[in-house]
Amino acid sequence: MRKLVVLGGGYGGLAIIQELLNNHLPEDVELVLIDRMPFQGLKTEYYALAAGTASDFDLRVSFPIHPKLTIKYGEITSIDLEGKRVLLSQSDIIEYDYLVIALGCTDRYHGIEGAEEYTRSIQTFSNTRQTYQQLNNVKPYGNVNIVGGGLSGVELAAELRESRPDLNIAILDRGNRVLSSFPSKLSVYVEHWFQSHDVATRSQISITRVEDGVLYNGDETILSDETIWTAGIQPVKVVQDLLIAKDPGGRVILNSFSQIPEYTDVYVIGDCASLPFAPSAQAAGAQAEQVAHVILALWRGETPKLNALHLKGTLGALGKKAGFGLMGKTSVMGRVPRILKSGVLWLSKRHLG
Ligand SMILES: Cc1cc2nc3c(=O)[nH]c(=O)nc-3n(C[C@H](O)[C@H](O)[C@H](O)COP(=O)(O)OP(=O)(O)OC[C@H]3O[C@@H](n4cnc5c(N)ncnc54)[C@H](O)[C@@H]3O)c2cc1C
Repeated sequence: MRKLVVLGGGYGGLAIIQELLNNHLPEDVELVLIDRMPFQGLKTEYYALAAGTASDFDLRVSFPIHPKLTIKYGEITSIDLEGKRVLLSQSDIIEYDYLVIALGCTDRYHGIEGAEEYTRSIQTFSNTRQTYQQLNNVKPYGNVNIVGGGLSGVELAAELRESRPDLNIAILDRGNRVLSSFPSKLSVYVEHWFQSHDVATRSQISITRVEDGVLYNGDETILSDETIWTAGIQPVKVVQDLLIAKDPGGRVILNSFSQIPEYTDVYVIGDCASLPFAPSAQAAGAQAEQVAHVILALWRGETPKLNALHLKGTLGALGKKAGFGLMGKTSVMGRVPRILKSGVLWLSKRHLG
């Protein structure tokens, strides 16, 4: 039997498993999925879990049950590319013939002193649960600062406003506007939403140091009962530790089949892979489907056909009633993108589950 091991059952990992199981897996191939959790956590909704507007249970998708799939739970500690094995905590070792690395990302603190120690994260299910507790225990009218005004920071601030109308919430961003990678029209819309919902947005704030209860913007001190870090991501530590070529964001540089060039039995997908787009669940899913077809073609002895990856766009939530999005080059704002976002979530729960 040949063994294909998938590391990580998130958006990319589950999509490749579904695609392989749906497309006539060869008789002599077995699949093994390794994750620390017994279900997929819908990471795109972690902002709602942190704010307290979605329950833990609502954000879980069951792993598939299939005679060809073995699920192994554990904490992956390292990958031995030469020895073709994966090491788990408690000295467990899993050998592979083929490997798919789909372990996602973690926060990037840019070397800022105290940032990791004194800010909260929404990058894993377990640290989002802790963030939920801390945020919802903040005293009435306390100060919550969100460092980073990208998609996840904006969604978290809006959702927290709906969950805790009493809090003083601010988004602190290094750039000139929130959502700086989106068209300015969308930023203006989102800034207006924040103004009318009493969320402060501060631009050109460069956090230089963090202490317990205080953020430093150069000489300025900003008091903070809780701070959430949404100011950058990088692949998880297991991937950071691999001594292979990476792009400036720390993502693994791949050949056109999404293989590590020196280890062609190893594929990397999702937030760990260097792709021509910003990391997203959508990119992870589209790449996973492509890689499944590459693997199946290679197993059949055929040359894989590569179709360019096409992404449909991005949707963001501003609480439960408003949203924004970018479809191709078209900006959309208001209730419609919010309804679309709920629809996408509904579909992905059913598709993945
Ligand atoms: C708040 C927020 C909002 C977002 N909104 C959007 C959005 O609207 N649209 C969009 O497209 N994208 C969005 N994203 C980004 C999206 O969630 C990620 O790009 C996507 O989840 C990446 O998929 P992945 O398969 O690479 O990793 P993940 O989905 O993160 O899966 C990684 C898996 O690996 C497991 N894992 C990691 N390390 C280990 C280990 N050491 N041992 C065992 N298991 C491990 C994890 O448990 C997890 O199941 C958002 C992200 C956040 C945080």
